[in-house]
Amino acid sequence: MANYQPDGGNIVVRSLTDDTTEFQLSGVEMAYANSLRRAMMADVPTVCIDQVSFRQNTSPLPDEFIAHRLGMIPLISTGIKTNMRETRDCSCDEGCAYCMVELHLRVKCTRDEHLPVTTAQLDVVPVTIADPNDDEGGPEMLKMRPRDFGQPVGKVALPESGTNALPIVITKLGKGQEIDIICKAYKGLSKHHGKWSPLSAVGYEYDPHNKLRHTSYWFEVDQKAEWPPMKSAAYEAEPEPDEPFDYNAKPGTFYIEAEGTGSMPVKEVVRLGFEALEDKLGPMITELYKAVAKEEGREIEDEDVGMNGAGMNGDAAPLVQSYGAGMNGSYGYGGGNADPYGNGAGGSYMNGGGMPYR
Ligand SMILES: [Zn+2]
Repeated sequence: MANYQPDGGNIVVRSLTDDTTEFQLSGVEMAYANSLRRAMMADVPTVCIDQVSFRQNTSPLPDEFIAHRLGMIPLISTGIKTNMRETRDCSCDEGCAYCMVELHLRVKCTRDEHLPVTTAQLDVVPVTIADPNDDEGGPEMLKMRPRDFGQPVGKVALPESGTNALPIVITKLGKGQEIDIICKAYKGLSKHHGKWSPLSAVGYEYDPHNKLRHTSYWFEVDQKAEWPPMKSAAYEAEPEPDEPFDYNAKPGTFYIEAEGTGSMPVKEVVRLGFEALEDKLGPMITELYKAVAKEEGREIEDEDVGMNGAGMNGDAAPLVQSYGAGMNGSYGYGGGNADPYGNGAGGSYMNGGGMPYR
């Protein structure tokens, strides 16, 4: 089963900041690399404004427009996997401190020139212990939250972020105009709406010298002169001019690049992406082991399977591969390497068109 990569995959991190990362993943099938890409994009939760109540809005923008803009603002979500609950898993009726962050935006323009309303004026309502008798560790969860949790990116930035996050403009007010808005932010996944994605971009490239001939370069006179090398070209040896074509070769090294929205450090996104894959595949592999054992007439206990087969120990890769047919959606962002398998599914989750308020 694990014949593809008996010693598991390998990761080389090329760069890592709070905002971006570049790493190369080798020893896995393309479907696995793509599953990781999709898990990082769509299975890592963040907190986002999802419900907006307007008490007053005399700005030039209609309520829906402002609600949409508020939904798209990334909020600091560091540690969200353990320090916040999804509303549907919470015992409260309509949102409490354990499953919701409340933000207020109250601005009135009293001066003659236009007043930009930005995320700098979007204030998080301080949390108080919701239900002290919560038996699922609610109060402890609140203690684990970083100080800036739920604050809009642009008002505050991640500590190690190399960029100075500027406040995001939400609307502008003329003299006498005002807005007074209550926003409720919940934990969610970008599977449901792209605003919850912790990444603004993620993609990978492979086979920088096109040894596998997954693409053909159109050129006028000289292909090399007309096509700039892919970013990863320096990491792989160029083929010899008369090297025979290897029909059996498969892509094995993927150069992944991810850029965060600022809601959490990118390394947390990568880690949670792997965890999401593990959480999905673990139970499936366990059941498969059990089914095979049953067919062979063996009795097998849950602990015999454990996470040994379900972890990232290489056994998972072939199974991901079998699910990979519809999942290959890589896009080459380096040298225009056309996507040989899928049709650029990248970003398809990012286009949530739904309104962010209910
Ligand atoms: Zn709650």
